[in-house]
Amino acid sequence: MPKGIYRRKEKTLIRLKLRMKKLGLSNKGKILSSETKRRIAIAHIGKKHWNWKGGKSKLRISIANNFKYRQWRSDVFTRDNFTCVLCGLRGVYLEADHYPKLFSDIIKEYNIKTIEEALNCEELWSINNGRTLCKKCHYNETWNKN
Ligand SMILES: [Zn+2]
Repeated sequence: MPKGIYRRKEKTLIRLKLRMKKLGLSNKGKILSSETKRRIAIAHIGKKHWNWKGGKSKLRISIANNFKYRQWRSDVFTRDNFTCVLCGLRGVYLEADHYPKLFSDIIKEYNIKTIEEALNCEELWSINNGRTLCKKCHYNETWNKN
């Protein structure tokens, strides 16, 4: 494929990224069709990714921006009926949490260093290792653990 063909999409992706930052990975900003998102995800996997720095520090961000992550998140929400599994709140801003295994523990356990390794890690994308939390519960779970 000729280079430069993704230029416009990269701009779109940057805009999407900024928007997601603002909304905290919210679903609200549906500006791209899922087919477009899928194509962008494929075009930007790993080293082809415009933001690829080759470092581990960006891995989490890369994963969070990946189509597969969004799919996992949406599957977890659907299974939990868009309800916080801890406090039962609905119709509020929701987040998907890696549970019972922490995201960072899976990354460590499988020694995941690249987005490709992350995408191929089944446990990372298992709906059985995910739960729906509202923002408040997610915050409490993350910061007030034991
Ligand atoms: Zn909650």
